[in-house]
Amino acid sequence: MNLPKLYQILAFSLFLTACDQSVNQDTLTVYTSRQPQLIEPILDKYAEATGIDIVLLSGNAQQLLERIEVEGINSPADLFITVDAGVLWQASQANIFEPISSSILTNNIPKNFRDPEGKWFGLSKRIRAIVVNDKGNQAPPKSYHELAEKEWKNRLCLRTSAKVYNQSLIASMLFRLSEEETHKILSGWSNNLATKVFSSDTLALKAVQSGQCDATIVNSYYLGRLIDQQIGNNLSIIWPDQESFGVHVNISGGGVLKTSNNKAEAVKLLEWLSGKEAQKDYAFVNLEYPVLQDQELHPILKSWGNFKEDTMPVHQLGVLQRQAVLAARKADYN
Ligand code: FE
Repeated sequence: MNLPKLYQILAFSLFLTACDQSVNQDTLTVYTSRQPQLIEPILDKYAEATGIDIVLLSGNAQQLLERIEVEGINSPADLFITVDAGVLWQASQANIFEPISSSILTNNIPKNFRDPEGKWFGLSKRIRAIVVNDKGNQAPPKSYHELAEKEWKNRLCLRTSAKVYNQSLIASMLFRLSEEETHKILSGWSNNLATKVFSSDTLALKAVQSGQCDATIVNSYYLGRLIDQQIGNNLSIIWPDQESFGVHVNISGGGVLKTSNNKAEAVKLLEWLSGKEAQKDYAFVNLEYPVLQDQELHPILKSWGNFKEDTMPVHQLGVLQRQAVLAARKADYN
């Protein structure tokens, strides 16, 4: 049986070999900050369906961006796939992406999840919600700003504002609210903290679970993972801001590099990732939400019901990122 060759995963420290100097139409090289186990299964499917070999280089987003810059026109990378609209915006500011005009991408991906110039495209939605324990659920907070009120004094746990997820959340507030209103929320959070800020969403969830605090703000897939491991039993998800703008939505996504020697094939892979066949799996493996409308959801996500999403254009999360960092600093939210 003639099975298509699957891609190799290259450790970040390894050099890509000189064979990349010549263009191989049957090979695509993807640089990604996504964990290999989250993206491999879906790229495997594409490789099997098309016979295209996919070389995956995974690593930290900033390091990959630096590498793309250093490699310049000799970069073997065809696509950059990462998480957070802030990072995608930063990549487009570094001018690494080729603008793409594709009716498949514009039909499949809602406008607010795409770069206005067609440089990057959202491929899954990541919802930053409130999670409470049973005590927190007795009078659950209805909004992000409620967590700044005195009822939540010494009852809140947060991840550090140094993480881009929180910078994007703060950027969404700056987009929707005034600077003063945003400051009030952030300094209220900072005053209400029961513990030091955490380095990860999972550690914040575990603090809520153990009763060190009663509420936190995390990307919903982290709660999904705990529930999947049957250790999230006393935790409940709350969709905030349902009577106003809707819960904050971020994306994972990617774009085609302007230095790619194989742009046409790279666009086809991006289109396929946005399509019906891939979207379910693409979102399923990390318990994220598909960007394509009306897709089947993971049973854990189904159990959380429907909710109103903030529909702000996510590229603004990047535009406002620096201001968000300054706003956190001003409010003593570390
Ligand atoms: Fe994450």
